[in-house]
Amino acid sequence: MAVAKSIKMYLTIFVATTCIYMVLYQYHLSRQPIPQPEYIVKPPLYIITPTFRRAEQLAELTRLGYTLKHVVNLLWLVIEDANQTSPLVIHTLNRIGVPYEYFLAPMPEEYKKAKKTKPRGVSNRNRGLEYIRANATSGVFYFADDDNTYDISIFEQMRYTKKVSMWPVGLVTQFGVSSPIIREGKIKGFYDGWIGGRKFPVDMAGFAVSVKFLHERPNAKMPFKPGYEEDGFLKSLAPLNLTEIELLASNCTEILTWHTQTKKNANAAALNVSTYGDTNLVELNKFLVRT
Ligand code: UDP
Ligand code: MN
Repeated sequence: MAVAKSIKMYLTIFVATTCIYMVLYQYHLSRQPIPQPEYIVKPPLYIITPTFRRAEQLAELTRLGYTLKHVVNLLWLVIEDANQTSPLVIHTLNRIGVPYEYFLAPMPEEYKKAKKTKPRGVSNRNRGLEYIRANATSGVFYFADDDNTYDISIFEQMRYTKKVSMWPVGLVTQFGVSSPIIREGKIKGFYDGWIGGRKFPVDMAGFAVSVKFLHERPNAKMPFKPGYEEDGFLKSLAPLNLTEIELLASNCTEILTWHTQTKKNANAAALNVSTYGDTNLVELNKFLVRT
């Protein structure tokens, strides 16, 4: 009897302890935050990319597109300086699979005819701003030219921009880099190959702006003024103090974007159809910008 009694007692203690542990474990689980997929919690990024038809176009878009594919919660605004949409651009964007919108924004004729430097990509970027004003309420936008080179960590950093953020841009020129000059954590000026009387002598690839801040500046846009596009746009965000600019890339000590330039290439010569008219080269021909 005594044995049965102590077995009963041990069993009771065992069951009671197990129950207490289960209750404690449930309580522990209920205190854990529910894991959220990354893309739900991160602020959206709007990447405005001007592009135009030339021999290198599909190559540039392919390279940039697969870079952007590493970045979550991103909408790629691809805006072509052309009067008609390009099936090849659409085909390329669909293949890459980054969420995108594709618009046309031709450069106004008066600038196209100009013999001197043209305001490249300005109508495209202003079209991107128009889209953001009409469709976006939060997040950050960034002007990413189709021919530049981007370390994806800059996208994660710019995502949290409150007003305007800036960082260095590597140049493939003798000057080497364009960057805010930082002394004791503050902007003391700008280092750039050409200052040209600009208040913000920065590169197009070196700053991002919050969508909310853009909404608070209803007249902000980019001027058709070669060399002064960045400066004009940033000035149109006034009031904007240098002290309000958020410094990224470890307080501007790293190069995470490069203003690269692809060598300008001549268009491919016409395909000799009498020799190759019955071959795969006819199909491949569709992907090329021919003279
Ligand atoms: N671009 C354009 N139309 C043009 C020339 C350029 O839309 O007639 C685009 C181009 O695709 C790029 C941006 O504008 O995304 C800047 O042009 P580019 O790279 O030629 O300028 P750079 O880097 O030499 O200042
Ligand atoms: Mn360029």
